[in-house]
Amino acid sequence: MPTTSKANILLVEDEENLHEALKLNLTLEGYEVTSAYTGSSALKAVENEYFDLIIMDVMLPEIDGISITETIRVSNNDVPILILSAKNSGTDKILGLRKGADDYLTKPFNLEELLLRVEKMINKNRKLQEKQTVGDTYTFDNYTIDFKAQIAIVNNQEITLSKKETMLLKLLIENEGEVVTRERILQVVWGYNVYPTTRTIDNFILNFRKYFEADSRNPQHFHSVRGAGYKFTK
Ligand code: CA
Repeated sequence: MPTTSKANILLVEDEENLHEALKLNLTLEGYEVTSAYTGSSALKAVENEYFDLIIMDVMLPEIDGISITETIRVSNNDVPILILSAKNSGTDKILGLRKGADDYLTKPFNLEELLLRVEKMINKNRKLQEKQTVGDTYTFDNYTIDFKAQIAIVNNQEITLSKKETMLLKLLIENEGEVVTRERILQVVWGYNVYPTTRTIDNFILNFRKYFEADSRNPQHFHSVRGAGYKFTK
């Protein structure tokens, strides 16, 4: 697999034999696989964890895969979704794609084809997420951040930054003017499968405001965007 870190896949499939077979093959390809057998457990997993890809069966107990896809998109999550369906019906396919799925396979499918599509979708998504990187130092207003030394110079005074503070600053600055979602922050700064609360990220932002804002209650640089994420502006 050409990707640098293990990609995390959510597998939503209620047929146990197929589920186990897919899980085994994806794991052999080097992916981390999280299992969901119902729609509600799939939605719960998506809320708590960052995924590089979701493989979604359409026919599921309780909530069908197309409704789950729609719910995920409504919550502003752009995770790539590959729909699996037993129905060889054009309308089903169009509906799935219209509700926000990125690709579609009809059962029974060829395993090689599934694995190829999975790899392609994950790589495409990672390329989209790779933004232009900033250099070792970055200056705005009267502030300079040295990412390598993990320090900030504020009014000629040196502030030592923690590793996570430095990573979060870098991520926000690299995406200047754009909202960085909570999921993205968790993925980049905290890594896979670890879930700090929203409060944890908020506390980091509060610290940044103390360091880099003239009036921390009226921030000009570090913004919280309700329900969406966080944004840095120069
Ligand atoms: Ca099914």
